[in-house]
Amino acid sequence: MRWDDVAGATRDLAELELSELEGALTPSGIEPYRAKQIYRWIHRRAVLDWAQMTDLAKRHRTALAEAFHLSTPNIAARDRSSDGTEKFLFELADGRRIEAVYIPKSPADTFCVSTQVGCAMQCSFCLTAKMGLERNLTAGEIVGQVRLLRSELGLLEQPINIVLMGMGEPLHNYDATMRALRILTCPDGAAVSPRRVTLSTVGIVPALARLADEPVMPNLAISLHGTTDEQRTSLVPVNRRYPLAELLAACRAFPLKRRNRITFEYVLIRGVNDSVADARRLAGLLTGLRAKVNVIPLNAAPGIPHERPTAAQIDRFGKALADCHVTVSIRKSRGRDIRAACGQLLVETGQQSPGQRLAGMLGATDG
Ligand code: SF4
Repeated sequence: MRWDDVAGATRDLAELELSELEGALTPSGIEPYRAKQIYRWIHRRAVLDWAQMTDLAKRHRTALAEAFHLSTPNIAARDRSSDGTEKFLFELADGRRIEAVYIPKSPADTFCVSTQVGCAMQCSFCLTAKMGLERNLTAGEIVGQVRLLRSELGLLEQPINIVLMGMGEPLHNYDATMRALRILTCPDGAAVSPRRVTLSTVGIVPALARLADEPVMPNLAISLHGTTDEQRTSLVPVNRRYPLAELLAACRAFPLKRRNRITFEYVLIRGVNDSVADARRLAGLLTGLRAKVNVIPLNAAPGIPHERPTAAQIDRFGKALADCHVTVSIRKSRGRDIRAACGQLLVETGQQSPGQRLAGMLGATDG
């Protein structure tokens, strides 16, 4: 159920695309040309209510307030890591909670945002998986995370990177995610360059084919994590449905811009997928693909039945990949002390209760 269904009545202005907003203003007696003005207030200046739209006549602001609402998550908690990473717990209008993470200067300021409340994908190394899927986010709620982070952090003017790698699998909430991307990249609004947006997915193959035809094309990151079907299925159960050969064929068919590459995320887990043989098999799978590998040493957490490899094992794996001429980076985990690192995003269940708090979060919510 969408939250504005809960709220009742009015349309959510935060999830209208510019062309839709132009059409939606007419019944309220507001000229369509004012749509760009309103869009800028919402998405570029990140105002939270109509009263702040000071270059609009009062009667226009009143008409907007009667015809629309503007969904913006509330900040329920905010936690700052010793390395500057900040984790935000957002409460939505229906009381459900999600998390987003701000990673400063990595090298650009990066927002990691959620696309679902929880996740249905059941990856074995991921805390978010423990929530199950509670519901999809609306495009307004996805965009709202970015608006709020920009305004809270004073980053309205600077270029930002966005990674759809918070809670949820973005391609499992396809339409809302694509709408959010169109809104975020609209030049009259937030104007985020698609080159600065990365969509991370476990690889829902039919959705990848749809994505290939989208007008707004984000960078693509595939959560691979395994080098045989048996191994990957044990870590990423959706592999049963879309096995490695099918997924990699979809990646080979994916249209890449010049000099662009697909990132393959690989959570490195001690004794599971961290051998030199795994590294060599991984290199073999990626042969002929314009690819780079992002190795993410597991962030161990209570309830996750896996361990982080030692530093020596991590180095050995990275070197074996590099020896096979694969471009590889080993992700430095940030925000581990506040559970904002990969695979650590989890909002405890019973979220509707007011006292509940976020237990951990982001990361491998690779989506
Ligand atoms: S890793 Fe991503 S896709 Fe897998 S369960 Fe976690 S959030 Fe979902």
